[in-house]
Amino acid sequence: MSAIPSKIVIAIDGHSSTGKSSFAKAIAAKLNYVYVDSGAMYRAVTLYGLDHMLISDDGKIDTAALIAAMPAIHIGFRNIDGQNHTFLNGVNVEQTIRGIRVSQHVSAVSAIVEVRRRLVHLQQSMGRDKGIVMDGRDIGTVVFPQAELKIFMTADPHVRAERRYKELAEKSRQVSFDEILQNVIQRDYDDEHRAVTPLRKADDALLLDNSLLTPADQMQWFENVLKTTAKRNPLCGGM
Ligand code: C5P
Repeated sequence: MSAIPSKIVIAIDGHSSTGKSSFAKAIAAKLNYVYVDSGAMYRAVTLYGLDHMLISDDGKIDTAALIAAMPAIHIGFRNIDGQNHTFLNGVNVEQTIRGIRVSQHVSAVSAIVEVRRRLVHLQQSMGRDKGIVMDGRDIGTVVFPQAELKIFMTADPHVRAERRYKELAEKSRQVSFDEILQNVIQRDYDDEHRAVTPLRKADDALLLDNSLLTPADQMQWFENVLKTTAKRNPLCGGM
């Protein structure tokens, strides 16, 4: 969108299954900004650990070896046919990092302080030139505490469970609504109570509760926010 002459950093955090990445991607496309999925980076490190037997299938992590391997783990993103793809040491791992094997171990990997320190550093270097939308759990609080625009997304747990239930039903996975609801509630609890950088809304983040909002409503909300941000922040210029 040409309305912002100077590029800014947009940090998006929030609860799981709130549609953070769809929203972040839509914003990045609209503004012609780079989109970075920070969760994919934790997933890529987890995949490396699994592939190199630094994480066993029963969940044991050789933490020292994984930390020592970090300099050999190169993560990048490439846009292929309009879709964001994650690369690990030059290999497209977009599909693999979304699989159940990685999903089962990524929380434990993301709780390792040294892994976080390195990934946060990498994320900060990606945002050096601004013009970036990054989504995750600690973007507004730790990665870019100075971001010009911070958004914290949430939605009623029942609404999120309903959305997830529909998605899984479309893929014909047999899971009950109650199981999904319990999982949503449990993940909120885990994210908010973990010892290392627990999920929390930055004091200056705008709250976007999308329980009753369609994607189009959310983009309308974002347009209004952009106007206010441009007025508040002279760096963004007049709109
Ligand atoms: O966003 P996604 O669910 O793909 O992230 C995978 C996992 O990575 C999360 O469950 C969370 O444990 C971790 N994560 C994190 N900090 C971020 C992004 C993701 O700890 N900024």
